[in-house]
Amino acid sequence: MENYGIDIWADDNFLIEDGVVKINYASKPALIDMVKEIRAQDFKGPLLFRFPHLTKKQIDKLYTLYNNAIKEYNYNGKFKAVFPLKVNQLPNFLLPLVESGHKYGYGLEAGSKAELFLAMTYNKIGAPITVNGFKDKEMIHLAFIAKQMGHDITVIIEGLNELETMIEVEKETSLSTPNLGIRVRLFNSGSGAWAKSGGIDSKFGLSSTEILEAFEMLEDNNLTDILTMIHFHIGSSMNTIKPLKNALKESGHIYAELKNLGANKLSAINIGGGLSVEYSQFQRTAQYHLQEFANDVIFTLKNIARQKGVEEPDIFTESGRFISASSTVLITPVLELFSAEYEAEHLRLKEKNPPLIEELNALFQDINSKTALEYMHDSIDHLESLLKLFDLGYIDLEDRSNAEILTNLIIKKAIWLLEVDDYDELKRIDNKIQEKYLVNFSIFQSLPDFWGIKQQFPVMPITHLDKKPTRSASLWDITCDSDGEIEFDPEKPLYLHDVNLDKEEYYLGFFHVGAYQDILGMRHNLFSHPTEVNVVFENNEVKLEKILESQKIIDILEDIDYDTKEIKDILKQNLDDNTYKILKKYLHDNSYLKTTWS
Ligand SMILES: *Cc1c(COP(=O)(O)O)cnc(C)c1O
Repeated sequence: MENYGIDIWADDNFLIEDGVVKINYASKPALIDMVKEIRAQDFKGPLLFRFPHLTKKQIDKLYTLYNNAIKEYNYNGKFKAVFPLKVNQLPNFLLPLVESGHKYGYGLEAGSKAELFLAMTYNKIGAPITVNGFKDKEMIHLAFIAKQMGHDITVIIEGLNELETMIEVEKETSLSTPNLGIRVRLFNSGSGAWAKSGGIDSKFGLSSTEILEAFEMLEDNNLTDILTMIHFHIGSSMNTIKPLKNALKESGHIYAELKNLGANKLSAINIGGGLSVEYSQFQRTAQYHLQEFANDVIFTLKNIARQKGVEEPDIFTESGRFISASSTVLITPVLELFSAEYEAEHLRLKEKNPPLIEELNALFQDINSKTALEYMHDSIDHLESLLKLFDLGYIDLEDRSNAEILTNLIIKKAIWLLEVDDYDELKRIDNKIQEKYLVNFSIFQSLPDFWGIKQQFPVMPITHLDKKPTRSASLWDITCDSDGEIEFDPEKPLYLHDVNLDKEEYYLGFFHVGAYQDILGMRHNLFSHPTEVNVVFENNEVKLEKILESQKIIDILEDIDYDTKEIKDILKQNLDDNTYKILKKYLHDNSYLKTTWS
């Protein structure tokens, strides 16, 4: 039996009971029951389940951690947080987040004009908005308008030119001026895969010389009072706490120096995001405890404030991955096991077969638990020889087919025989005997970070968990791209069940896909965003809400700027009305496969 590391990555959000994965909340519904309910409404293909209660859990946790630390150290500043929109902007995720964060004054961070529009629209008045990223005059003007609407908005400049623009807009408009933040370029860079967000050669932020110049520009324009925030972000998925501590010290001193220069309204340090999420199914990767992390932040800033004799700053965070990753789970049907075609009934043995085939057949007949491993090795060797013989023209296609079928039958039987007592032995030869699982989704669309940066996501079957998985598995998506594969990795082995898909269904769950994947996902092969649904709880009972069907093919084509009327006209030309009607129905379906169970 395997638990797929659920005790490592799931944070008690899910549990295994009665052989299925259940949501560890309220009435503890099983994922498979929810899948069935959705599919009964004729939604096929991959499904994205969103769990607003898990977003809320993370928000609560974030505020609790910092407020605990503030209490523990008698800290005078306040804790404030914003959600960075770039991590997940989709309405089914975002709107519940805004509601859950309301009681804390949880705000939003925008990094582009489109995101700023979202923040201006959905952020609750009173909760902060921060604006990062590169900005033009129009974007800065938008921030002035947001301020006019009553938002508590801080424009964080990435360079002196942005400050110049801000001063320009301030002069030209009668709107009230937003707060100003300065992103500092730190000498102490981050850790983890995204470390280039911080550091002296970072793409972002002002150097110490530029910070001094910026302050002088503010003084010259009588605007020192708009400066309220120092900001840094050292990168995503920090696995150790040390780089953050270094960055805190550096920025803490910059804060204190600016205060002492006369930045009277400077009152906050924004430490960006970067809290990590446990994606590993094998061992914990984060080397710090979250409370320890928050304590360190508070403790470090308290010390600096004391040392330099300035007031303790408010602390802003912009953690995105930490808030959103666990909120979304992708569930995909397995369409096919590659070896399913190798059934004994398809054998075409002849009166007289090539000697190696006869031997394979004998191995298959004689195999028992004692000989299983040896015979399996032999059969793989034989197959390799037979494939060579085929290339040389010595055996025919029927022979080759027999060789493939017999070898697969021997492997299957060996695994079945070994399962009882020699599972470890089996693991040693995983590489040669993988089963390929064809899965109804696109890696490019649904797990773009796996494709792009080999980010691992926890994956497991959501049923069959009372049985031992016996097949080392590689996962194939339905794009016709050879990169659309999650290969078997002996270092991080994935074992799945040997299922007969003609008789039973088999679904895989990919967890922690709520951060970055939705929007990074691309429409390679024109597979679009999967059908999604919000899972909410009312009076302890589960309710599936806001079902958003995967895009129709015709709409996908329209999105990439085809004239859909023209498409229909051309398709219609040589078809009778009835056939065209059917065609049109297909055009109005989504593009995922429908060959599985109803
Ligand atoms: C991306 C980003 C974040 C979010 O980082 P996470 O690692 O998802 O917490 C926060 N702040 C800024 C400025 C960012 O660019």
